[in-house]
Amino acid sequence: MSKFPDTRFDDQWIISKRGKKNKIDPLKPYGYFVEKERTVSGSIENVSTILLTNSECPFHCLMCDLWKNTSDKPVPEKSVAAQIEFALSKLPETKHLKLYNSGSFFDNRAIPKNDYKKIAQLVDHFETVLVESHPSFINENVLHFSNLIKPKLLVALGLETVHPEVLLRLNKKMTLNDFERSVKYLTELEISTRAFILLRPPFLFEKEGVIWTKKSIDYAFKIGVSSVTIIPVRSGNGAMDQLKLEKYFEEPRIESLENVIEYGIGLNAGNVFADLWDIEYFSKCGKCLSKRKERLNQMNLFQKIPTRVYCTCLI
Ligand code: SF4
Ligand SMILES: [Zn+2]
Repeated sequence: MSKFPDTRFDDQWIISKRGKKNKIDPLKPYGYFVEKERTVSGSIENVSTILLTNSECPFHCLMCDLWKNTSDKPVPEKSVAAQIEFALSKLPETKHLKLYNSGSFFDNRAIPKNDYKKIAQLVDHFETVLVESHPSFINENVLHFSNLIKPKLLVALGLETVHPEVLLRLNKKMTLNDFERSVKYLTELEISTRAFILLRPPFLFEKEGVIWTKKSIDYAFKIGVSSVTIIPVRSGNGAMDQLKLEKYFEEPRIESLENVIEYGIGLNAGNVFADLWDIEYFSKCGKCLSKRKERLNQMNLFQKIPTRVYCTCLI
């Protein structure tokens, strides 16, 4: 794998590699479910997640595939609130809610400010509400929304990686200073933050990928992030498939995910979660996959390190 190609990974290049978007309904979320998660206080509770159908994020990160379920134009006012109302009518009651909108909750083009009040009413009965945002949208909208809602607001921010050259090439248009400023701003408002960190972004070999994920976890906790979620990078958005074809990218192994989660938990600095979405994709061995998946699940829930899985695939 040669290090960095000459290609400029800008919006134009990334968009040119894409396939078609999925059909969406602006009045319906494209997903909603309940899963168990460990809270900051250490209890394990049910968390509802709503995947909101929203307009496309103005950033076009190299590894992002969230555009697939978005619209080209802003969704009409009140439609996000209608989606939340719809999902909550289908979901069982939980104390915690995550609202993921495939972009930034505080981007006015994504969630109109006029919708905040209705959304606040709908989420009134939760204890916590987590939303996601790019650091450039961390502004007075956060304060405005957090003042309107009864539950405690938590904000997830994509740190991605602290590898300087890789971060630059992700087309995220964010520096570590931007990230740090946002965490500081949120901390001053007593809003807890979660960092999304990538495992093995493009241009890194497996071992380097692990090292840089660990460095990114260190950095996140050092600047005051309360919890981190590690996302193994996958192809499937066009751009990543092209990079894979040109040997600038390979999916990380499930064992590497176990490795970085063990490391993060060992720091004892805050909850460290593995994103287990489509985890089968990262295993090459049918014999140990279910054991590794369960081990990661146990680490997510209990933040303890169970005995390692030994399998012939590693011999
Ligand atoms: S900021 Fe987030 S949602 Fe927007 S393109 Fe980047 S990764 Fe995707
Ligand atoms: Zn195996």
